[in-house]
Amino acid sequence: MKILVGIKRVIDYNVQVHVKADGSGVETDGVKMSSNPFDEIAVEQAIRLKEAGVAHEIVVVSIGEAEAQEQLRSALAMGADRALLVHTAQAVQPLLAAKILAAVVKREHADLVLLGKQAIDDDACQTPQMLAALLDWPQATFASSIQVGDGRAEVIREVDAGLETLSVALPAVLSTDLRLNEPRFIKIPQIMKAKSKPLQIVEFAELGIADTPSLRVLKTEAPAGRQAGIKVESVAELVGALKERGLL
Ligand SMILES: Cc1cc2nc3c(=O)[nH]c(=O)nc-3n(C[C@H](O)[C@H](O)[C@H](O)COP(=O)(O)OP(=O)(O)OC[C@H]3O[C@@H](n4cnc5c(N)ncnc54)[C@H](O)[C@@H]3O)c2cc1C
Repeated sequence: MKILVGIKRVIDYNVQVHVKADGSGVETDGVKMSSNPFDEIAVEQAIRLKEAGVAHEIVVVSIGEAEAQEQLRSALAMGADRALLVHTAQAVQPLLAAKILAAVVKREHADLVLLGKQAIDDDACQTPQMLAALLDWPQATFASSIQVGDGRAEVIREVDAGLETLSVALPAVLSTDLRLNEPRFIKIPQIMKAKSKPLQIVEFAELGIADTPSLRVLKTEAPAGRQAGIKVESVAELVGALKERGLL
């Protein structure tokens, strides 16, 4: 089985994000960038499936500027076999990302696609679902457990009322939640080894996909500052304060 994993280069989750003075977006110049954390979980899951003998090849794919090769190399160092960058300098909205990934999935004849449940920059939570629709494949989102066998994937996902278990026929698109696994730590020898693993660059224009953005960002604003809290001396005082505010 060949697994394809999507990796988005995003602002590192430890960075305090600042909105640009003109409200046109957030500052990215000189800011630490990393792989979307949910995508690292997807890579880890693919590697575990390979270690279990379920998968034979893991291809990691990123869409964006040349710098995204850094995140692809990290995934190769974790244990992915091959990387592919669809190179474009333009902003990539979820629908376009899904169209590009669909084209790559068809080229690669992947049997399973693992994506993060959402990217922590736009928090859109749309690409996996749109990709499944474009491919006309089954989908299971927010996976906190994935078992693969007999041409099916059994996925446990968190829903409001508890846990839901789905069984989907492969090929399928699965998106990963935080509780699925803990990505492995990359050791120096693996980073060195990853340098010689194949990383192919495909120009976006080569894919022949029309880019018609469906979303327009009108303005980006920083959230209102948090109000100062109060310190309470006892549980009784806390309960009283909550009741006073109509919260209990
Ligand atoms: C990649 C990523 C994905 C995530 N996905 C999810 C997700 O799917 N679901 C989810 O629920 N969370 C998720 N989280 C975590 C969630 O985003 C954070 O836990 C949450 O945003 C923290 O909010 P905060 O601003 O209150 O944080 P902080 O201010 O850092 O507060 C953390 C906690 O400290 C305590 N605290 C802080 N200030 C006070 C105070 N004045 N008095 C008493 N207690 C206080 C509270 O318990 C508070 O929740 C994710 C985080 C990351 C990095």
